[in-house]
Amino acid sequence: MRLVRSSILTLLVAIWASSGAHAATSDADAGTGVEPPDRAGLRSPRLYVLDCGTIRSDSAEEYGLARNEVADTSMADPCFLVVHRRGVLLFDTGLSDRLAGHPTTLEGYGLEVTTPLRAQLAAIGFRPSDVTHLALSHSHFDHIGNAPDFAGATWIAQKAELDAVFGKGAREPPPPELQALAHARKQIIEGDHDVFGDGTVVLLFTPGHTPGHQSVYVKLARTGGVVISGDLYHHDEERTLDRMPADERKTATPASRRKIEALLVRKHAQLWIGHSTTFFRNAVKAPRWYD
Ligand SMILES: [Zn+2]
Repeated sequence: MRLVRSSILTLLVAIWASSGAHAATSDADAGTGVEPPDRAGLRSPRLYVLDCGTIRSDSAEEYGLARNEVADTSMADPCFLVVHRRGVLLFDTGLSDRLAGHPTTLEGYGLEVTTPLRAQLAAIGFRPSDVTHLALSHSHFDHIGNAPDFAGATWIAQKAELDAVFGKGAREPPPPELQALAHARKQIIEGDHDVFGDGTVVLLFTPGHTPGHQSVYVKLARTGGVVISGDLYHHDEERTLDRMPADERKTATPASRRKIEALLVRKHAQLWIGHSTTFFRNAVKAPRWYD
């Protein structure tokens, strides 16, 4: 989603002040009481859809759509956990767990978190320290809210996104959630990247919404191929009516959309638009999974 940066910083300061110190590592090593899946025995990845918040909105104009063209102007804000024989990848971290119990309004958007990400991970047997790889679709606050919890993972990041956020030409100070990853192990990539080396989990470079925006392709034995497209689209109607934010028309977004649409056909894969409330309502959610 799209917000004015200064407002986001104001919001974060308010939330952080109201919710006290971050429970960063104190309970990270505590047991969860639930057995995680036996990774070594997995022949195909498992994909969990986690509820990382809801963004309430009444307008769709900034996505190139009239209000009456959009069935639901609110957005889901999921995170995705991929459990692979060789590691555990978290793709996006949603709105901050600090918002749980503190619904907030920002520039006309309502921001809500029902169940903290940590609790959802615990319900499937995972501690934050069990996540071996972290990838963010992009650096906007509704995708990086809980990133500091995963500073122990290898952060797989597009060079273009790191340059845009941390480089000399960055337009704003880096968000604190990403500053918290400053000392994380990093794997800096340029373009598509096969995370576990067997073609089942592939990050796809889809710039435009931000300079280093990425999506992820997951090949599942029973479900088939799935592309999780970050903010390449927000509302389903952007795809069906061929719309996009006006300021993205001259970016790489049109080419990135063509790339993904071609890949969907080639791989016979389905597209999951994370912010789509229709997608999220119909999705099988953790603790259940796709495989
Ligand atoms: Zn977003």
